[in-house]
Amino acid sequence: MRIWLIFVALLLPSFLLAGPVRAVATSTFVADLVRSVGGEDVEVVGLIPHGVDPHMFKPTIADVNHLMRADVVFFNGLGLEGRMADVLRRLERRGTRAVAVAESIPTEYLLQDEDNPNQADPHIWFDPRLWARAVDSVVRVLSELDASNAEHFTARGEALSASYESLHEWAAASLAKIPPERRILITSHDAFQYFGRAYDLEVIGVQGISTVGEAGLSDITRIVDRVRGQSIPAVFVETSVSSAAVRRISQDSGVRIGGSLYSDSTGTPGEVLHSPTGMRYDPSTYTGAFRHNVLTIVDALGL
Ligand SMILES: [Zn+2]
Repeated sequence: MRIWLIFVALLLPSFLLAGPVRAVATSTFVADLVRSVGGEDVEVVGLIPHGVDPHMFKPTIADVNHLMRADVVFFNGLGLEGRMADVLRRLERRGTRAVAVAESIPTEYLLQDEDNPNQADPHIWFDPRLWARAVDSVVRVLSELDASNAEHFTARGEALSASYESLHEWAAASLAKIPPERRILITSHDAFQYFGRAYDLEVIGVQGISTVGEAGLSDITRIVDRVRGQSIPAVFVETSVSSAAVRRISQDSGVRIGGSLYSDSTGTPGEVLHSPTGMRYDPSTYTGAFRHNVLTIVDALGL
């Protein structure tokens, strides 16, 4: 009987035997993207926990086991996961497919890291129109790995891109309410340059594009000098980066902390937040985290 079962199994198409594609995604934003495209057809393991800084993240042995078992590893790229570079290179050498979703975006849309001229700024998810372009690479790769579900991946990808376009339009309309003299976003690290370009805000990060180097006293003094005597109503901390430097700026300048932004990590699953107008959103998703940021910034910088 058992021999017959094995024989029948050998005749089945391989996708029926193999089960869903096993994907590992690095940052919480990338994991949300892959889950949204993959739906029930893809098993997604999110590697970097919620609230943990991807610039600093080093995989544990358990993480490496997940990576080795994966059919595909999705990561942001453009240097975001700087401390995973070796592991990703080794995975590729042993034949695991590793896909940098941000590196599919044409270079003319990318901003450069001013401190490292050869390095692009990896924080592309803060322009939803760019994040919609990252959707395409996930759809393409999942469809190659599981052609039987390609239609599902394409349909979900199209719906997702359309929802990111709506999110962009809502954000643009909301942020337009901030008066010109208050359009300055000061945060813990330089994650919001794409956001600033998309919505016409000047952006100042106390630390650079990466959080690997700590903010120095000169960075803090420079920003305190800039903030004093201007009509900047608030500065912002971030959920995945130390708030010490921004708190110091707030104390030294007398400018209040306007709230906590999701920069390189989404919120914790299970939490549901409400906007002042009654909008419900889940900050563990890309869309919810982005909405939270926009609402927090408008609330603190608007009139
Ligand atoms: Zn960052």
